Amino acid sequence: MTEFLRHLPKIELHCHLEGSMSSATVRALAARHAADHSAVWDGEIPDHFSFADFPDFGRQYLFGLGLLRDEEDLARATDDHAAILAAQNVRYAELTTTAYSHLRVGGMAPEVYRDGLNEGRRRAAERGVTIGWVVDIPRDLEMPDETVTIEYLESGRTPDGLVGIGLGGYEVGFPAAPYADHFARATALGLHSLPHAGETEGADSVRQAVDDLGAERIGHGVRVLEDAELTKQLADTGVFCEVCPTSNSLLGVVDSLTDHPLPRMIEAGLRVSLNTDDPGWFDTDLLTELRIGSEVLGLTDADHLRLQRDALDASFAPVDVRAAIAAELAQFESDPTA
Ligand SMILES: [Zn+2]
Repeated sequence: MTEFLRHLPKIELHCHLEGSMSSATVRALAARHAADHSAVWDGEIPDHFSFADFPDFGRQYLFGLGLLRDEEDLARATDDHAAILAAQNVRYAELTTTAYSHLRVGGMAPEVYRDGLNEGRRRAAERGVTIGWVVDIPRDLEMPDETVTIEYLESGRTPDGLVGIGLGGYEVGFPAAPYADHFARATALGLHSLPHAGETEGADSVRQAVDDLGAERIGHGVRVLEDAELTKQLADTGVFCEVCPTSNSLLGVVDSLTDHPLPRMIEAGLRVSLNTDDPGWFDTDLLTELRIGSEVLGLTDADHLRLQRDALDASFAPVDVRAAIAAELAQFESDPTA
């Protein structure tokens, strides 16, 4: 089982660059900037991150985010994560990055942000990993009357491989519908609609993502099952759900991994894939999520192959990359031990 999953060519659709930073990356960047971490951790920066509660998670996340200050930091964070992806046979990954945090909160120049992401993507390609970028609006930071993210996207100073606009952050109290105009402007630029919904809020949040933002994929979407009619609508129209079990478990979206709704989502005919969300902070990786799929959620090897094909299908990978991965998956299916 483990060998099958290890060698399986993989695609990841839901991972945040700012949440992907491993302990090694955080240490290296903290040293580069001589950053004081004493308000976040006692003693050394730990080998594996863990958190006591949501505020504790927030403190660590913001410390890591604050280390991304220039082009090299962004390139390094991207490339460090690409090294982990390459080691796990991940061929294509869509990484979400929050422009607002860097440009507005961090005061970074748009050109520096763009060039850092481009350099990171170039280094990742050298490792055999193609990166697609998603720029998300942080709904609990950027209010609907602000236009920082959409104006950045319209400025043209965006990275190569940009495929979509997302909507991240805490859903409760921050509904999706007020961002309809932002998403209309982004999709007019040719970007795909990829909002988070149905994570910390229920089915109504998913409905807004679909009806008001034109969602083609939903980040998480696990709570759509609370509404059978909407679940059927998603299944019938092929709106895809990016499922992140460890994230859901650690953030209390599900009581435990054994209660995770992934099997019921598949049963209901939803197209899904497994993802890491914030692998650095959640101390996970894609192979671990796939193992959870097998060992806790009952997925077979054939299910895993189908999920990778569905993820490839739902991705916005360039045509040549898509064809190469499809061929590799066919080859793998004919001989998983090769
Ligand atoms: Zn996410």
